[in-house]
Amino acid sequence: MSSHQPEFLEHSRIWENLRYIYPVVSRRAGGVSLGINLNIDKVCNFGCIYCEVNRADIPLYRNVNSAALESELIAILTLVKSGRFFNDPRFSRLLKENIPPQVRDIAFSGDGEPTTFRNFPAIVQTVIATRAALDLQDIPITLITNASMFHRSSVLQALKDITAAGGEIWAKLDAGAAAYFQQINRAAIPFSRILQNIVLAGKIMPLVLQSCFMQVAGIGPNSQEIAEYIQRIREFVCAGAQISRIQIYTVARPPADRTVTALNTPELEAICAQISAALPNILVQRYDGFWSGYTYE
Ligand code: SF4
Repeated sequence: MSSHQPEFLEHSRIWENLRYIYPVVSRRAGGVSLGINLNIDKVCNFGCIYCEVNRADIPLYRNVNSAALESELIAILTLVKSGRFFNDPRFSRLLKENIPPQVRDIAFSGDGEPTTFRNFPAIVQTVIATRAALDLQDIPITLITNASMFHRSSVLQALKDITAAGGEIWAKLDAGAAAYFQQINRAAIPFSRILQNIVLAGKIMPLVLQSCFMQVAGIGPNSQEIAEYIQRIREFVCAGAQISRIQIYTVARPPADRTVTALNTPELEAICAQISAALPNILVQRYDGFWSGYTYE
């Protein structure tokens, strides 16, 4: 399946009349993903330079209603189970493009960091129970996270619950050094906290690392930065963390910051080759971008 398909550009948070659930075609899920947006207030504790969320937009809603979210989940999973979900023209056309007509995952993602939502552990339980009630346990649950909250015991327990239910934790690591982390992720949280959290969780469950590399004002990460990144992963492994695979990707949709553009395929290939050579026991997966973005002059 090529990633150069227009469906990957469409990550609208609103489908039909749903407020929290947004089905998308995801490169990294390999098909249709049911996103759950727990950050409808558009607040995130990171300010990633490549983030596609336009925080200047006034949010339509600010509070998550757990009962309404559960109703949405039941409704959409019932559609999936009946097969009627793929009657929607946006998804039925995927059949012609060799994208499998199945939901590849239920993903906590959205307009901010899902684990900062105070009822995140309870929502995880709701998703696991709803999926079981509809006998859809074969749809995996994915948490797409910036790893900033793993030190909270309730969040760590939720991570365990997702893993025990057959799901995966995709932890963001876009940098190997604190300065680059600050340039790219622009977080008030120290880089050391993110590193500690990845080790903390990785000692309990396997983690998928998800790493976005890009050009900023026409300049991509240099080989020294990638070497630092590799060194951090070596340190994770030495500390006992399990890293099941690494996803390397680049910008695929227009970010709010117009100085950010995608790396081209040879640039991503070079990064993946450097990582694979240094970490031969960890699977490295490459997801090319196709949006060349704005030119920087
Ligand atoms: S952590 Fe995710 S939602 Fe938050 S700023 Fe970064 S890319 Fe955007």
